Amino acid sequence: MKKIVILGSTGSIGTQTLQVIEFLTQKWEITALTANKNVDLLAKQAKKYNVKFAVIRDESLALRLKKQLKDTNTEVLTGNRNLEYVASLSDTDLVVNAIVGAAGLKPSIAALKSGNLLGLANKESMVIGGRIINKIIKSNDSEILPIDSEHNAIFQIIKDHNKKDIKKILITASGGPFLKLPIEKLQDVTVKEALNHPNWDMGNKITIDSATMMNKGLEVIEAHWLFEQPYAKIKAVIHPESIIHSMVEFKDNAISAEMGVSDMRLPIQNVLTYPNRYKSSVKELDLYNVGKLNFLRPDLDKFPALKLAYEAGKEGGSFPAVLNAANEVAVSLFLQKEISYVQIPQLIENVMNKHKKITNPEVSELFSIDKWSRDIAREVAKCL
Ligand code: NAD
Ligand code: MG
Repeated sequence: MKKIVILGSTGSIGTQTLQVIEFLTQKWEITALTANKNVDLLAKQAKKYNVKFAVIRDESLALRLKKQLKDTNTEVLTGNRNLEYVASLSDTDLVVNAIVGAAGLKPSIAALKSGNLLGLANKESMVIGGRIINKIIKSNDSEILPIDSEHNAIFQIIKDHNKKDIKKILITASGGPFLKLPIEKLQDVTVKEALNHPNWDMGNKITIDSATMMNKGLEVIEAHWLFEQPYAKIKAVIHPESIIHSMVEFKDNAISAEMGVSDMRLPIQNVLTYPNRYKSSVKELDLYNVGKLNFLRPDLDKFPALKLAYEAGKEGGSFPAVLNAANEVAVSLFLQKEISYVQIPQLIENVMNKHKKITNPEVSELFSIDKWSRDIAREVAKCL
């Protein structure tokens, strides 16, 4: 039986990973599950799958988890260090990183350093630490299988090709809930409207990122590092139906696409069963029903977050970490109704303008930059 560790098992990707495992006939042993604060769901999952380790990151909740798991064989662990510990357990076939935000970086590094195969949903790891992660992969001969649907699609398309034959990567974007809303109406959009994604049901942070198109921006940077392509070759294409999960154009101008319904269980299962294919619980795509597919150029005046992400990516060094941390603060302030939707990119741009680039930051520097960016973002938010 293959062994899996799922980091962030209580979230949208985490719970869908467990659904995929339940459906597959090929059985997995789940050795460790982790959560930030959701003790009750983590305890329920740990009991159901009889896991060896349950990690609750928030140390103040460890006792509550211990109480709930007292009659089981599960060892309760807590704190950030133990997220890294379970990510690097030996005798592991796959570590799925479904943590949200910069908090996912160190566990990703721990998994890869220990030589574990990493199923990566946590795009922020690659955005902030892509250079460092690629260095580890090369020196350790470890590997990432991308779970983010666009990157999973690109991975599937290019695996039988030579990287030098890629002319363009075309990352598709739904355009989010405000695609058709006139630009002047954006200042009045509510949290509820921003959380109402037309095609995907996801965690709150990525849903807001989709509404600002920062999600696509982060994915452009993620693609830059995962597939080692320059930014000039990575284009975002609005495709409101989300049927094509992404495309690759080759030197000969042939374009390959990967298609299916918009259901994250598809890329998750692809990673769990790679390179094999099995029956899945995902619905069949009926193209007669779909009828038409549409493509549009992104409007960077309407969605400045995408422009900021391209700028941060091209600038490189510490800029993507600054962008990401400022975005995390901005999204959280928006969710708390402390800033408006249009102030999200304004806040990020303000923080980026105050930053002096560090060229090749190491992991410890990345975390001081992350903290600096968060502190400045909170200060700037007060004056917006
Ligand atoms: P979510 O908010 O639903 O779940 C996040 C998980 O991470 C939870 O288990 C939570 O307990 C844990 N967590 C939160 N903060 C943490 C911290 N500081 N330290 C440790 N653990 C923490 O998020 P999600 O939507 O499942 O997204 C997870 C990641 O996958 C994100 O990076 C997101 O961009 C990416 N992703 C998600 C989807 C999707 O459909 N949800 C699609 C593509 C990529
Ligand atoms: Mg995606």
